Amino acid sequence: MRETIRRFVHIASAMLPFRLLRSGKLPVLLPFYHLVSNDELPYRMNYHYPSVATFESDLDFLLQHYKPVGLDELLSGKSLTKAFHLSFDDGLRECYDVVAPILKRKGVPATFFVNPAFVDNQDLFHRYKVSEIAALLKEKNIHISLQNTYADLDSLDELAADLGLNWHELMSERQPYMTTPEIRSLQQDGFTIGGHSMDHPEFWLLDEESQLEEIRESMAWINQTFAPQIKAFAFPFSDVGVPDCVFEACHEERLFDVSFGTAGLKRERMECHFQRVPMETDQPATAAKRLKAEYLAFQLKRLINRHYAKRH
Ligand SMILES: [Zn+2]
Repeated sequence: MRETIRRFVHIASAMLPFRLLRSGKLPVLLPFYHLVSNDELPYRMNYHYPSVATFESDLDFLLQHYKPVGLDELLSGKSLTKAFHLSFDDGLRECYDVVAPILKRKGVPATFFVNPAFVDNQDLFHRYKVSEIAALLKEKNIHISLQNTYADLDSLDELAADLGLNWHELMSERQPYMTTPEIRSLQQDGFTIGGHSMDHPEFWLLDEESQLEEIRESMAWINQTFAPQIKAFAFPFSDVGVPDCVFEACHEERLFDVSFGTAGLKRERMECHFQRVPMETDQPATAAKRLKAEYLAFQLKRLINRHYAKRH
């Protein structure tokens, strides 16, 4: 059913003009990516990412229809229906090598959310480990279905060792993440740096105290290393399974000034918590197509909510 609705939204939105779909009072647009590359990256085989040309045309589309704003303007309280703030998760090296030069050339501010446990290539995100293992299994023609959560990390590491994969060797050879000096240089160029948990667990698998600990520790590292003017945190994967009491504790302890989820275009009930739009969809699509689908889904939900509000 969900898939049918999604397909309907994609087909219907493609037939409607962008300006019509983007009408009425709308939340600020917060597109996010992970990386941009023309290369096939083995640790990212289970995720999609745009080529340089696709990313540049996405940016041109955004700049044609919206004003790019920094994190400070996002928190200014101004009406930002025709603005966007861009962000990138996971701190991958392409953010420094490929993304930042393009953004600088086009004058687009952005926030980079990083995981302290991965910075400087100390460790690899468990989903990227799954991708590496899957690529090796395919090469060896071995068929095993892989578990892929944080809770499966020990068994994934054991399987990797059995297959002769050495994460440390692989990390030092490929260097998938940015280093601390590279991140600092992004900050010096005017980009903002935020926290993304220590090592990217699925928060819905953690209890409340462990969720808080991930936020506390990662934000403490960010503050100590980069002393950002605005303390920003992006929940890894999504904010699904994060109860109100965790948000309340974060506010009481002033762990961050602003936080982000990944639920797409959505108005948030909590102050200083925003939802971002994932731009790396499974179907290769332009930003125009992606955003049209997002706006149509938003407008349909708004109509349904109004309808039910009138009836009750
Ligand atoms: Zn992430």
